[in-house]
Parts: sequence; structure tokens; C-alpha cells
Amino acid sequence: MKDNKSFNTYQTPSWCPGCGNFGIWYALKNAFTELNFDNSDVCMVFGIGCSGNLSNFLKVYGFHGIHGRTLPVASGIRLANHSLNVIATSGEGDGLGIGLGHFIHTCRRNIDITYIIHDNRVYGLTTGQTSPTSPTGFQSKSTPFGVIEEPINPLALAIIQGATFVARGYSGEIEHLSSLIVQAVKHKGFSVIDVLQPCVTFNPNYSYPFYNHRVYKLEDIGHNPEDKEKAISYALDYGDKIPIGVFYRVSKPTYEDKSEELKDKPLAEYDILDISISDLIEEIRES
Ligand code: SF4
Repeated sequence: MKDNKSFNTYQTPSWCPGCGNFGIWYALKNAFTELNFDNSDVCMVFGIGCSGNLSNFLKVYGFHGIHGRTLPVASGIRLANHSLNVIATSGEGDGLGIGLGHFIHTCRRNIDITYIIHDNRVYGLTTGQTSPTSPTGFQSKSTPFGVIEEPINPLALAIIQGATFVARGYSGEIEHLSSLIVQAVKHKGFSVIDVLQPCVTFNPNYSYPFYNHRVYKLEDIGHNPEDKEKAISYALDYGDKIPIGVFYRVSKPTYEDKSEELKDKPLAEYDILDISISDLIEEIRES
């Protein structure tokens, strides 16, 4: 029987003391344990940023990609091997800045992967610049007079663009976050969890006291995740009260289910070595 220590590596996390990434790290390990996963059952794809350092601290298959490209890599892994549980993880700067186009297209494809956004509303690794979810008026090294744009709303965007499981977690609520990860991984289709993750060093305004006083659980007020309209209205609700939990869930065929080439077997099971290139060229010429 595995416990969550089975997913530790020999390295100790190097995040700042109190960083919200610790909570996400624990929640992932607890979720893998609850799902009874072996280390080789999971492939994680990591982006660039403080969250990307997770690649050193989780003993599962991993791919540390380039900035903003976690979702195309994760999609490729899933299409090539249907037996792996594929989880992409990145900061909001990575996934909603340079990677925003990939995020939207992965939502509409509904590929069976999970995406966890470490949303600390600031670029942490590069020492505190404004990110795509920084609120209007936010002052940082890159916007000393305050942000004049509106922040991106990842949950509303995901629901509207076709993601079939959309949730928000909080890294200060590890047990709850762990249960969201379990549900997201079990869900068939593209599942997104936006995680409120305090960056205690470069964004102290959005730290534990701020969230502890505001978060409430949607399941405690009887929200039905199949109600899309309500899900969008909760996704837009970010103020004195901040909802966490499953906002939206719907059952739809995945990209793999709908693809004639992939529905019966993944790419890795095609014997491409049997294809004669000259026969292929001849076939194209004749067509
Ligand atoms: Fe965490 Fe912020 Fe430190 Fe990065 S800079 S490790 S996000 S607290």
C-alpha cells in the first residue's frame, strides 16, 4: 500500500517558506495516494516559473517544457498513450500569458487531461512583475503606477470555451484541493483547476489571511455544477467572498473518442515502421 511519501524524490522543495506551492505539492501527493496510483501511472508536464520546480519534487513521469507550452505537450502525451494519467501544471503567467492560445484551444478540444493553474497573481520566479490575473490597480516593478487593464478570468473563460470540468481550489485548504484533484483526474475530458496560491514574497496582499477570510465552498451552499449559467456567475464573483469547489461539470465525448484514428488505439500503438515511404508517395501521386 502506497502512502504520499512514495511520491517524494530525494530533493527538498526550495520554495520560499510559506509559499502556496507547498500546499499544491501535498495535495497532489495525497490525491495520487487516494487514487492508488503507482509512480508510473502519471505523467506530469511542468511549465516555467516557481511552480515548475515541482518537477524536482514529485516522483512520477515528468516533462519540464518551455514557457507557455505545457498544454500542447500534455495533449501530445495523452494522444500518444491513453494509459497514462496526464496532468499539466503551470503558473498563471505561463498558462494565461504566453500560453493563453493553447489554453483556449485545449478547452474546446476536450482532450482527457487535467490542468492545474498555480494562480498567485504575480510573476514570482522573476521577482514580482504584473501577471495576467493581477487585479486592476496592482502596483509592481513592471507597473509602478498600477495596472490599467482588466485581469483574465480563467474559470469563466474555461467554461465558455468548452472545458468539461472547471474548479477552483485554495492551497491553504489541502484536503479540499486534494479532493478536487481526484475528481478532476477521474473526469473524462479536459479538467481545469485554478488554485489560489499565495506568493508570500512578492504578492503579500494575496496571502493566507486575505483568502482565509474570504473563501467559501460551493458544495456547502448546494451549487449544482451542471448549472452552466450559475457556474459562470460564481466564476465572475471575486470580491469580499471567493467561492472554491467544482463550478462546472458536464459529460461530453473527448477528442480521443471522436477521432477515427485515435478512438481504438493511441498513436504509440501504430506501427509506423511498416509504412513504406515510396509506396506512400506513389499512393499520393495516384490520388
Ligand atoms: Fe513561492 Fe513566490 Fe517564493 Fe516563488 S517567489 S517560491 S511563488 S513565495
